[in-house]
Amino acid sequence: MTELAYLRTIDDAYVREFRARVVALPPGGVVLDRTYFYPTGGGQPADRGQLRADGQPAVEVLDVNKSGPAVVHRTASGPARTALTVGEEVAGTIDWERRHRHMRLHTAQHFVSGRIFARTGRRTRKANFSGTRATVEVDGPLDEALLAPLAEDVRGAVAPPRAVTVRHLPRAEWDRHPLSERSGLVPLPAQVDPVRVVEIDGYDVCPCGGTHLRSTGEIGELRFDRPVPLGDGGTRLVFTLEAASAPTG
Ligand SMILES: [Zn+2]
Repeated sequence: MTELAYLRTIDDAYVREFRARVVALPPGGVVLDRTYFYPTGGGQPADRGQLRADGQPAVEVLDVNKSGPAVVHRTASGPARTALTVGEEVAGTIDWERRHRHMRLHTAQHFVSGRIFARTGRRTRKANFSGTRATVEVDGPLDEALLAPLAEDVRGAVAPPRAVTVRHLPRAEWDRHPLSERSGLVPLPAQVDPVRVVEIDGYDVCPCGGTHLRSTGEIGELRFDRPVPLGDGGTRLVFTLEAASAPTG
């Protein structure tokens, strides 16, 4: 069992260095008792980075995946990996540039999905992030004329910035939440309790297990591609991060 330490608070998404204990060494992988590395899931790619035992060279983390209750850090082979032992403590370092990019894309996607829902009633059914691009699929047609007001909404959320917070709500309370209807077409699995709710102050409330910015001011500028109609009546909307933003972490 690996504790997903990045989930607890919004600030935990900003932890770039941590210490943890090795609990298992499956072939090609390292399992820790807790981790701040994000494992692939919910459309967000896994983190990269390094693990290092005291006095040893660093082991590169090439990929991170969930395997049941464990998180497996897939590592490069070599003497530093071979020297790791179960029970010892290691230092983890997250590739911050990559992680912060995913946090910007993910937080921007919540905001954009929330604004699309507010403006059109269309729900987001899927989203994923890669490099500097986010791909959002909504459940109906989207007019290109929506892009200008959407871009205006984004500018309005970057300055002045809005706070982003994480709460862990009892399931019954979430189900009664007036804004729970925006959160996608796929219902939350019944066993999810409590629900991790990510809120952009004044804009959006959505259950999510990803990593997010603490302020919309870090999103920076977005460029929207023209919406693409899909064969099943839905629409694909792609947006790109325009430039680096200054992390506050
Ligand atoms: Zn999210």
